Amino acid sequence: MIAYESLKSQGAAEVLCDLRSDTVTKPCAGMRQAMAGAEVGDDVYDEDPTVNLLQSRLAEMTGKEAALFLTSGTQSNLTALLAHCGRGEAVIVGAPYHVFVDEAHGASVLGGIALQPVPVTSGGDILPETVRDWVMPDDCHCPVSRLLSLENTVGGQAIPLDRIAAGVEVARDHDLSAHLDGARFFNAITALGCSATDLAGPFDTVSLCLSKGLGTPAGSVLVGPRDVIARAYRARKMLGGAMRQSGVLAAAALYSLDHVLPRLAEDHARAEALAGVLRELGLGEVHQATNMVFLTPAPDIRDALYAHVRGQGILIGEGRQSRMVLHRDVDDTALAAAVSAFETFG
Ligand SMILES: *Cc1c(COP(=O)(O)O)cnc(C)c1O
Repeated sequence: MIAYESLKSQGAAEVLCDLRSDTVTKPCAGMRQAMAGAEVGDDVYDEDPTVNLLQSRLAEMTGKEAALFLTSGTQSNLTALLAHCGRGEAVIVGAPYHVFVDEAHGASVLGGIALQPVPVTSGGDILPETVRDWVMPDDCHCPVSRLLSLENTVGGQAIPLDRIAAGVEVARDHDLSAHLDGARFFNAITALGCSATDLAGPFDTVSLCLSKGLGTPAGSVLVGPRDVIARAYRARKMLGGAMRQSGVLAAAALYSLDHVLPRLAEDHARAEALAGVLRELGLGEVHQATNMVFLTPAPDIRDALYAHVRGQGILIGEGRQSRMVLHRDVDDTALAAAVSAFETFG
């Protein structure tokens, strides 16, 4: 990640477009107004009406009994795993998924839970036969398989409902529960054209990030059955995630459900437009799905390309592959600046 300060020192006049992640958004005037006006109380006493409203709204929207507001997506996944599994029990999880790669194995460190990474397809899903292969036999040499943990979207790709249902069905046949890391759940339902209930349906629990596509400053919500959420509630306290007047944060999410969720398709359309330009320019291999664009520049132009784009005030992921993520703070003007930066290279 390139900090704004270091960008300035590298000669860019100002940042015109930040495509590093959809987490870089800042609350707009409307969101700040909603936060400032939020009715709040002590949520540890269960007295924050705005948190309670957000929880009940998301539970209802996803067709689940209960919901819990958490500090982050990582904490939401962790409380879910702790709620589903005991020590010595195992989670089948895609090897490239966030739960396995990017959460410091919290479930293992804190819960004695085994994470079993399994291969995923190029579409990001886990094949039913893979799930079958990785359910452990009832044998004292093995951990006890307890949970299948999926992700949607994966690297921007929305996994269709039938492919999800097939994997979860095998898990059910073996008495496993199912969890979805839906950090970008709302991008997924937008791309799939399905309802939140449709996508959440096969799963016991779903973790929903509020600070990705929805653009709030912080927070995630875990939805699921009342008994699992009750265990997650205890785990949240243990992890230090029970907050007090967190209605100011929940108010931002309620604002987003009304004003940001309906416009996510715009991010997908801008991502598609950007990918089209990059393909035409022939700067390297391009992949695009939902709000994400991936460019793999030829190694001999990579450093010069990144330096040029950065010099134009455009922030992108800089690695072997560059990730660019569209979000609510990238409008047509900002996108045009990014396009122009690529067009003027070379
Ligand atoms: C961002 C992300 C998370 C975790 O979110 P944090 O709020 O950063 O902890 C989990 N899963 C996926 C797929 C993510 O992209």
